[in-house]
Amino acid sequence: MRPLIAGNWKMHGSLRASVALAESVRAGADDLAAELLVCPPFPYIQAVAMSLLGQPVAVGAQDCHPAVQGAHTGDVAAPMLRDCGATHVILGHSERRAGHGETDVVVKAKGAAAIAAGLTPVICVGETLAQREAGQAEAVVRAQVAGSLPDGFAEAGGIVAYEPVWAIGTGKTPTEADIAAIHAALRQAVGPDTRLLYGGSVKPANAAAILALPHVDGALVGGASLIAEDFLAIARAAG
Ligand code: PEP
Repeated sequence: MRPLIAGNWKMHGSLRASVALAESVRAGADDLAAELLVCPPFPYIQAVAMSLLGQPVAVGAQDCHPAVQGAHTGDVAAPMLRDCGATHVILGHSERRAGHGETDVVVKAKGAAAIAAGLTPVICVGETLAQREAGQAEAVVRAQVAGSLPDGFAEAGGIVAYEPVWAIGTGKTPTEADIAAIHAALRQAVGPDTRLLYGGSVKPANAAAILALPHVDGALVGGASLIAEDFLAIARAAG
């Protein structure tokens, strides 16, 4: 499976900085073994997609609403994202599960909306530190996968990202054995064809070791995706 290195730009940057970052990523994107995806904030998606038109860097969003359209002030529908040039959408990120009360049911509905709009959903799962310390990590991610993946997910090329909540933006990562164990459980749950990304403090220094683990088909990168050279170094580490 071709690895995918995805950048989650979160709520960072400006219009000018986002286009400049996209262009710097594009400049290093030729001849990589990995596929690249960048996920800017909503207002910058179209400009970034225009600057990457025809280039080997895909563009995604960081969320969508489950409805196609309607009275949902401040929300964005999946077909609108598609219209603006997005091909992917991150769903169920822990910052949305925790900060916006998103449940598995909501994430599943958003995933179904994404697929219906022709977007590839990247559905995030991951345990909290308390859950890991209680020995519940595998059970938690299995339950999230069972509850969050919509019908037709595998057929639509849906992607799962394992992101331990306590590893996001903290500089901490699980041991390689712990990542491998969760990815083996995820592989069993989703089958052979679904890409499994690891996310949580992936940096150029640890990327090669993480990306070499069995059933790790790429990475979802937050902080390091905001520096083109770091993001590209992670992509090169994918082989
Ligand atoms: C993320 O938020 O998806 C993420 C993995 O962040 P970071 O790489 O900064 O830990």
